[in-house]
Amino acid sequence: MRNIKKFVFGNKIKFVLATLLVLYLLFFTNLPIGFYNILYASNISGVDDNGNFLYKHQLNEDEISIDNDYSLNSNYEPVDFETSIYKNISTFDLDDWKFILVNKENPLKEDIECDLIGLNGFDVDVRIYDKLTEMFDAAKEDGINLCMASGYRNYNTQKYLYEKKINYYKRLGYSTDEATQIASMKVTPPLTSEHETGLAVDILSYEYNTMDSDFGLSDAGKWLKEHSYEYGFILRYPQGKEDITMIQYEPWHFRYVGDEAAEFIYVNDLTFEEFYDMVSEYNGVDNEEQ
Ligand SMILES: [Zn+2]
Repeated sequence: MRNIKKFVFGNKIKFVLATLLVLYLLFFTNLPIGFYNILYASNISGVDDNGNFLYKHQLNEDEISIDNDYSLNSNYEPVDFETSIYKNISTFDLDDWKFILVNKENPLKEDIECDLIGLNGFDVDVRIYDKLTEMFDAAKEDGINLCMASGYRNYNTQKYLYEKKINYYKRLGYSTDEATQIASMKVTPPLTSEHETGLAVDILSYEYNTMDSDFGLSDAGKWLKEHSYEYGFILRYPQGKEDITMIQYEPWHFRYVGDEAAEFIYVNDLTFEEFYDMVSEYNGVDNEEQ
């Protein structure tokens, strides 16, 4: 006690400065929010298989106040469904056959059956044939000679391609784990490839017929990027969005989603995953209001 008195009265200036510092930290910085977050985080006991946090104290629904939580984060902006990016979003129904989402996190349950039709030696779902040939014809009018490089693949074909890729990297000296990891960025494992839906196509041109990122710089690659949405197709694995799609940039891979969704995705510069999440979110809000 005497020591404290001695400190306070013997170091008046230091004491005043220390008090001012504490007041400054409390009122003019985000430190209290940081403390709150640390306290909040301490309620987290781990992460489950789906990457969701597990809480030591599971909150009941009536204990959760979303507004209060978000008010601490100055960056949070509530979703405004009136803004242009959400315009027309209510017209999309995720149960539509065109919107089937297939990726590593959303594998098909089984080999799906679809009515196929041949084009340039490859099969596609009969429902996309007209739009696809319309796109090829339009490109031709602009002097671009597109050609199919892949279409529908059944389970066994996809499995064969995937295993072939893993073996390729193993032969280069990678361990099985490493080879699998690299291979799965380039060829998706069976039941997780869009090619198994019949709605995805790989397209190259007679002038540039190599599946590499430079195809995106070729006349055909540029034409497809700019015009495919007019025929209901999207560039499915864009550059710079690999962390969302979990697939390398593939300027040759196009997916049919229909005219409206393709335009929406193109104009708003989205991946199909982002589109899917937005429509889900919108529908969630919509349902609550009803
Ligand atoms: Zn492909």
